[in-house]
Amino acid sequence: SLILKDVKKGFLQGESEIQVLKGLNVTIQPGQVVSVVGQSGSGKSTLLSILAGLERADSGEILVDNINLTPMSEQQMTLFRAQNIAVVFQQYHLIAHLTAVENVMLALEILKMENPKARAEEALTELGLGHRLNHFPSQLSGGECQRVAIARALVVKPKILLADEPSGNLDIHTGDKVMDVFFDVVRKHKITTLLVTHSEALAKKCERTLRLDEGQLKEA
Ligand code: ATP
Ligand code: MG
Repeated sequence: SLILKDVKKGFLQGESEIQVLKGLNVTIQPGQVVSVVGQSGSGKSTLLSILAGLERADSGEILVDNINLTPMSEQQMTLFRAQNIAVVFQQYHLIAHLTAVENVMLALEILKMENPKARAEEALTELGLGHRLNHFPSQLSGGECQRVAIARALVVKPKILLADEPSGNLDIHTGDKVMDVFFDVVRKHKITTLLVTHSEALAKKCERTLRLDEGQLKEA
């Protein structure tokens, strides 16, 4: 499960401090697939960045399967996140000089997990890329690159998957196909998922939708 307790975050903009997240409270059950919607600038990416550990909340608590991240040291937090929280962005962030399978293996090698090659191949095959294992990102289409990024996120079997507009860079048809396999895989592995999207249609494919509005998370 993922629990947020009164999570707050503000930014200094010029002279003034703007409060983006004004105390978020939510409980997301294990395996629940949840969409997060809200106007541009409402703080969706800020929320994901905090959960992914790219930014720190000003206050509040985050619990993953009842483990409280708040009192952890930076080092503990980094390891915990690498093992438990995976992220997919709109940009694929693949490493250009590594092949698809090498990009996916890297996540496993960092965590010193066994059989990285076989696991990476299995994850890519699950995403429909069994025929693209040894291609470099420059030899792959946008949809294929995003599938590699999703395979890389899921290969470590994270407890939580965070996705920020994963189909935002793809045309509608390609995006739909990538998202179909995305939903199949997260449901099959029962991964707790937060999907930020501007698409009503995509939001509706999730079991639950939360709206960020005026710094609060509300059921939509
Ligand atoms: P979009 O739908 O356009 O992606 P969003 O909901 O993801 O929007 P955020 O990127 O989270 O919105 O930004 C929320 C607010 O926080 C915006 O007003 C933005 O300018 C501000 N903000 C985000 N990051 C920073 C930062 N590092 N420094 C200052 N302000 C920031
Ligand atoms: Mg955003």
